[in-house]
Amino acid sequence: MVARTGEQFLLGLRGARELWVGDDKVASVPDHPALAGAATALAEVFDLQHREADACLMPDPETGEPINVSHMIPRSQADLERRHRGLECIAEYSMGLMGRTPDYMNVTFAGFAGRADEWAINGNGQGAENLVSYQKMLARKDLSLTHTIIHSTVNLAAGTVPDGLDPAQLHKVEETEHGIVVRGSRVLATLAPFADELAVYPGMPMPDAAAQHALSFCIPMDTPGLKFICRDSVAVNSNKFDHPLSSRFDEQDAFVIFDDVEVPRDRLFIDGSLEAYNTAMRTSWWPNIMQQTMIRAHTKLDFARGLGLRMAAAINREDPQTQQMLGEIAMYAEFARAAIYAAEQAAHEYGNGMWCCELPPLLALRAALPAWFPRVNEIIRQIGSHNMLTTPSRAALNDPELRPLIDRYLMGVGVDAEQRDRIFRLAWDFAGTALGSRNEQYERFYLGSVGRNQTVAHNFLDRDRAVRLTDRFLTEELD
Ligand SMILES: Cc1cc2nc3c(=O)[nH]c(=O)nc-3n(C[C@H](O)[C@H](O)[C@H](O)COP(=O)(O)OP(=O)(O)OC[C@H]3O[C@@H](n4cnc5c(N)ncnc54)[C@H](O)[C@@H]3O)c2cc1C
Repeated sequence: MVARTGEQFLLGLRGARELWVGDDKVASVPDHPALAGAATALAEVFDLQHREADACLMPDPETGEPINVSHMIPRSQADLERRHRGLECIAEYSMGLMGRTPDYMNVTFAGFAGRADEWAINGNGQGAENLVSYQKMLARKDLSLTHTIIHSTVNLAAGTVPDGLDPAQLHKVEETEHGIVVRGSRVLATLAPFADELAVYPGMPMPDAAAQHALSFCIPMDTPGLKFICRDSVAVNSNKFDHPLSSRFDEQDAFVIFDDVEVPRDRLFIDGSLEAYNTAMRTSWWPNIMQQTMIRAHTKLDFARGLGLRMAAAINREDPQTQQMLGEIAMYAEFARAAIYAAEQAAHEYGNGMWCCELPPLLALRAALPAWFPRVNEIIRQIGSHNMLTTPSRAALNDPELRPLIDRYLMGVGVDAEQRDRIFRLAWDFAGTALGSRNEQYERFYLGSVGRNQTVAHNFLDRDRAVRLTDRFLTEELD
């Protein structure tokens, strides 16, 4: 099988898995009311790759068959620009509201396979070989992956990663004839209901952990003992007019329990090597994955700007404060575009022939976005004010008695009442609904919190010029 269609993707989701949403143990993901909308949306992402084949597909380097461009191991700057077009096309499908469309994990695993040398250190050659084979299979079967790389929080006084052996956290229990048994828990598998397999790989280094915690692997979602507890759904299962975003873009997040799960030996990428766990992703993971995540973020900022512009125009809101706030979103979007451009222009080889973006512009952007996105939501709500709540439903618009009154009293400037309704419903679904709130939480945390990212920026970004400029005043001869 090569690049899949939406129908093939949905067929894969009908398989058994132990997944809970609200009160329900889900029997069939595409048929569950809380999941059906996003399942259909993701199926459309699979169809999109065929409709936009020029941007989204490329020939498999070994077989020549079509695979998604997000599986590419970039070997040049031109490759990165080629990948950019495909990633942007996917991001535009959900306007960046789905952070973990399958291209996210495809890019991650392409990066791992491209730097298999990093995984092969300290006798982990077999794990690295397994990883390279897995990545080829992932691309050729066009699977959808969810991932969990963060240890669950029990008592922060003990730190955020295990110190010694922590039985609550994912760890190896025993060897079996065909592999190993693992037990424990992890957070937070976004996309879990819509995935074919679960990926576990290093999140943060854990220098003092027991070797049993040093694990990386991929297993199918229906592996016995694997349990997923989803957060409350924010999907609204009505119609796309009333809830244009909540009806399709709730990608879900799940707590993962490994209740004595057997991992086959050929699916193990790290089995007890703390050295490999603590160093495998040091150099190229960030610059590789951040091309995908920042293209998505830029798309979402441009979309938010469009929402603001349409709202302001629909009611002729031209006051200086509104123009200033619209300028603020425009500024964020332009900084995002410029950082991605700068990072791609300065791309270089990171080792083993793999090319990635220049890291510093993306690192700075990543550290800024968790503050920008909540501010963007605030601006959308300021511009929208009560108008986001004077939005008749589809049923109200269809009512023959109400409709003429709505047309008379809720018209906009240059737009009729129905169009005005659509604009403000879209904006409310973006910034005000439960989906808007979950998405804000996502932007704050999905790739590390603002605190952690700004600390990384402080430690990593070059400081030579900053210090030199200051030191001129500290070293000059004074009278
Ligand atoms: C919606 C959502 C989806 C997610 N999806 C996934 C997923 O698919 N897979 C996955 O593995 N994980 C996922 N995560 C988890 C995510 O990786 C973590 O939330 C993230 O790493 C931050 O860790 P934390 O939640 O423990 O928060 P912390 O990093 O502990 O942050 C909590 C607070 O403490 C502050 N803080 C903590 N430590 C420091 C520090 N060292 N320096 C400065 N400030 C600090 C932060 O600024 C913040 O205010 C998701 C999270 C969310 C919210």
